[in-house]
Amino acid sequence: FRVQIAPIEGIKESTVGVVAVLRDITDIRRLEEMRKEFVGNVSHELKTPLTSIKGYVETLLDSEPDKQVTRSFLSIIREEANRLQRLIEDLLSLSRLESKFEYSSKEQVDMIKVINDTIFLLGEKARRKSIILEADLPVSLPLLKANRDQMSRLMINLVDNAIKYTPDAGRVKARAYNEDEKLILEVEDTGLGIPEKDLPRIFERFYRVDKARSRKLGGTGLGLSIIKHIIEEHQGEISVESKLGEGSKFIVELPLKD
Ligand code: ADP
Repeated sequence: FRVQIAPIEGIKESTVGVVAVLRDITDIRRLEEMRKEFVGNVSHELKTPLTSIKGYVETLLDSEPDKQVTRSFLSIIREEANRLQRLIEDLLSLSRLESKFEYSSKEQVDMIKVINDTIFLLGEKARRKSIILEADLPVSLPLLKANRDQMSRLMINLVDNAIKYTPDAGRVKARAYNEDEKLILEVEDTGLGIPEKDLPRIFERFYRVDKARSRKLGGTGLGLSIIKHIIEEHQGEISVESKLGEGSKFIVELPLKD
């Protein structure tokens, strides 16, 4: 609580009473703490690849290693620069989604096409891990009034995660169907699964079940929070069913009528 006390002046400047105002600032404080934590996380996430890039550049300049070592250092530098780029792009997407001033145009979107495009885009990534990536789609679906780019981002993030967190030779399946005025999208994998205690937190910014693993796989820790914003923007809902060591299923429900 924040307490503000003010005297009530009577005639001849004598104090005749006191007014005390108690304001519950729990929410304000919580928001302030979340903001501080976010800024701390962003700084840390930006600093780590930058420190590594600087370290490798210094070594290259100081020791003039042979060609092979030079190439391997340069490829690490490229990877770290790519990480910085992904992080900045995700931060910009998140900030655009969070700013309510940004007008997001909606049109009639064919989700069958969005899913097929996603499967095509991520096909090579799945093939490299011998993962079977498939779509289970009806012949037609009602069009969804939505932002096309955001729907693409939603599907790409979900399928990309499913591939990332599924070991070689697994299976990833995207499904879509309509039911009771809703469009349902599902992405199911036979991957690592998510521990029950982490499930309520995975949509938080920078929350990762295994930081080192996510980092190694190129994750920014922002993919699911971007998804959550996109779904809110479309008055939808997302849920997860997961079993550790067996796999996960992300289910998105989007209203067909607004
Ligand atoms: P990241 O860039 O780390 O993948 P996300 O916000 O997309 O960040 O996801 C947050 C965390 O949720 C991941 O680090 C991972 O631990 C977990 N996660 C997301 N999708 C899956 C999945 N399909 N299978 C297992 N874990 C997942």
